[in-house]
Amino acid sequence: FNVPKAVNEPVKSYAPNSPEKAAVLAAYKTMWNTTIDVPLYIGSEEIRTGNTRNMTAPHDHKHVVGTYHLAEKSHIEKAIANALESRTKWANMAWEQRAAIFLKAAELIAGPYRAKINAATMIAQSKNIFQAEIDAACELIDFLRYNVEFMTQIYADQPKSNSDVWNRLEYRPLEGFVYAVTPFNFTAIAANLPASAAMMGNVVIWKPSDSQVFSAKIIIDVFKEAGIPDGVINVVFGDALMITDTVVASRDFAGIHFTGSTHVFKDIWAKIGTNIHHYKTYPRIVGETGGKDFVVAHPSANVKQVSTGIVRGAFEFQGQKCSAASRAYVPQSLWPELKKQLITDVKSMKMGSPEDFGNFITAVIHEGSFDKLASYIDQAKKDEDAEIIVGGNYDKSVGYFIEPTIIVTTNPHYSTMETELFGPVMTIFVYEDAQWQETLKLVDTTSDYALTGAIFSQDRYAIEEATIALQNAAGNFYINDKPTGAVVGMQPFGGARASGTNDKAGSALNLLRWISPRTIKETF
Ligand code: GLU
Repeated sequence: FNVPKAVNEPVKSYAPNSPEKAAVLAAYKTMWNTTIDVPLYIGSEEIRTGNTRNMTAPHDHKHVVGTYHLAEKSHIEKAIANALESRTKWANMAWEQRAAIFLKAAELIAGPYRAKINAATMIAQSKNIFQAEIDAACELIDFLRYNVEFMTQIYADQPKSNSDVWNRLEYRPLEGFVYAVTPFNFTAIAANLPASAAMMGNVVIWKPSDSQVFSAKIIIDVFKEAGIPDGVINVVFGDALMITDTVVASRDFAGIHFTGSTHVFKDIWAKIGTNIHHYKTYPRIVGETGGKDFVVAHPSANVKQVSTGIVRGAFEFQGQKCSAASRAYVPQSLWPELKKQLITDVKSMKMGSPEDFGNFITAVIHEGSFDKLASYIDQAKKDEDAEIIVGGNYDKSVGYFIEPTIIVTTNPHYSTMETELFGPVMTIFVYEDAQWQETLKLVDTTSDYALTGAIFSQDRYAIEEATIALQNAAGNFYINDKPTGAVVGMQPFGGARASGTNDKAGSALNLLRWISPRTIKETF
């Protein structure tokens, strides 16, 4: 199969006076000074229902960025009908034609749309330019390029035949449509969930997060410009419960590709279970659903490395990653020096608008998230078994700003050691050096989640011990590095337990969920 070998998109520097910096700031300014109006995309139509909601900027929440239109039940039914009408042609299209569309989309993002999609992600999802570039440009492009390569590898895999029997696997898409439910925190994931199913020949109903509508509009514009036929990816906004209920009530519902919270995913799974007798086929259920990701330092660890791992792992992207480090276990012997280093590192981080490239931290996504984080911080200020060693301030007068905060607790089961907060709050438990084995057990059993985790150690036996003891505690396990920042094609991403179905994003394992092959045996 002759598709270009996938390469990771290089991350641009955005140095002062660089052309990319000028381009993204120009796009940002234009977007800031105009408002957009985002319709539903159903079949060939852009539908403005007139029932709209405002999009605002999290770092300046009085600023309205635009509006988007909300679907009613009839629109969802229409989207399903359109998807199904488009299905036969799309499913039977030669894979090279589908590959061409998604490879072209990757090049459109890499070139003419790069500044736009980055600026939209900065404004409406509150990312600084470096976070936006890694997500909305590079990771999104990498997902498209690598998945095309994986797709061709899957199709190339054929069973054995001999001189009188010819066996084939026909890689059919699922019979029906796929429902993609996507989060605000990664523009790349938002694009990848509908795109990976569509790439394998499926038609899709895509429900983006309310906080990601701006960049979702750019994604669908790009897919259309790249040549995706009408009706293959239908985009709907609105009441999530109504949309899900309508979608999973359809006899043609064939699968869900989800990233979001555990309880929403479990609720949807339960609804699918209730409807199971009604479906034409067993639906594929694929979800990534959060984490309570750990850092564990062995007494042999390098203190500077641990501090960087904790600070970058916990606070980059405002801690709004499923993979973000949010509980750490550090030995008493390293603590005095590590504590000093952490305070220095955190104090060097500036917080403010994403437009200022010197800001490391920007606002959290919305008021609900701000209030939740502020209440846990307030509680830690009162609790005797918790102490805030750095951060702890917050302010929502202009934007939803939460200072990067480190809590130290004497209780390994303190609430913030167990609850996913999805923001810039890290909790540390200091263990006695002699308790290393018990600490590994604690790491494994404290949380229901199992997405990512990191071990810091210079002692290979300790690394081996942790790797074995924490075998099921994380789907992505990092040695002497932060537990975030999986790169497509390098570290396939996903976890089990309450973190998801572990169908590794950015790998052939994920794409395999979107096909239902037919075996054809022909006897000569
Ligand atoms: N893939 C991202 C990482 O490795 C996290 C994605 C997520 O937050 O869902 O950091």
